[in-house]
Amino acid sequence: MADMRLVVVGAAGRMGRMLIKAIHETEGCVLSAAIERPGAATIGQDAGMLAGLPPCGVVVSDEALPAFVEAEGVLDFTTPDSTVAFAALAAQARIVHIVGTTGLEPQHLAKLEAASRHAAIVRSGNMSLGVNLLAALVRKVAATLDTNWDIEIVEMHHRMKVDAPSGTAVLLGEAAATGRAVDLAETRVAVRDGQTGARPPGAIGFAALRGGTVVGDHKVIFAGNGERLELAHVAEDRSLFTQGALKAALWGRGRKPGLYSMVDVLGLDS
Ligand code: NAP
Repeated sequence: MADMRLVVVGAAGRMGRMLIKAIHETEGCVLSAAIERPGAATIGQDAGMLAGLPPCGVVVSDEALPAFVEAEGVLDFTTPDSTVAFAALAAQARIVHIVGTTGLEPQHLAKLEAASRHAAIVRSGNMSLGVNLLAALVRKVAATLDTNWDIEIVEMHHRMKVDAPSGTAVLLGEAAATGRAVDLAETRVAVRDGQTGARPPGAIGFAALRGGTVVGDHKVIFAGNGERLELAHVAEDRSLFTQGALKAALWGRGRKPGLYSMVDVLGLDS
């Protein structure tokens, strides 16, 4: 089979540059286009050089649709509004859309759901095997323990991160809520400041720390009466996420339209 032709959108971003490098290093796929925002300073630059590689002959452009039509998949680690716009174009071109963007609100998710009627979308707040395994464990523990065990999720990320709680923390919160058969939207407590009153029973709490160059630390704490269970994941290198994204793209090749997650890609029990 010929190599899978992939577009990287947000090509000049932290993840975008790493995705270009990962495509270069991964068998079975090839970079077909690199897209940035109209007016971006990197338009016209060689994508390989942008990623610290030798020139690859793919020039950064702002023309997404023509690039999508010529490709089989798009890797998207950008912003929620951009991801929704790219989902419409990917649906039009009928190509696999890998969404790593975090901070998506219900209105963004509804648009992805609509686009997934025409093309396969794989979305995950974290593309690593370890975090998806952790989510499966959290779901199991939450299903086992009653609400006398308070669930708190603590995360830390680098100082440049713009959304909170992290997509991974939300993913873990959803796993805990699923285990408890409750709705995360109704149980989540993401901000505490001042006279908060006592912790509501059954709440799923979040705390976000920001600083330095931390790639991503997550801890799920089950705090009971007199004992505590803690499950944690530490991401040491962002290439974890790019490898997961490429695995998802190759898995999605030829897949029927639908909204998938890394649980599907990795074949983990849901
Ligand atoms: P970043 O460095 O800010 O990169 C985002 C890039 O996308 C920027 O170059 C930005 O350009 C570009 N962009 C935004 N809108 C665009 C558009 N409409 N057309 C073309 N390019 C556009 O951010 P990052 O650290 O790479 O992270 C990106 C996202 O991935 C975040 O949501 C982050 O949380 C998420 N993430 C997910 C995972 C995972 O495993 N799921 C792992 C790591 C990060 P401008 O600067 O011009 O806006």
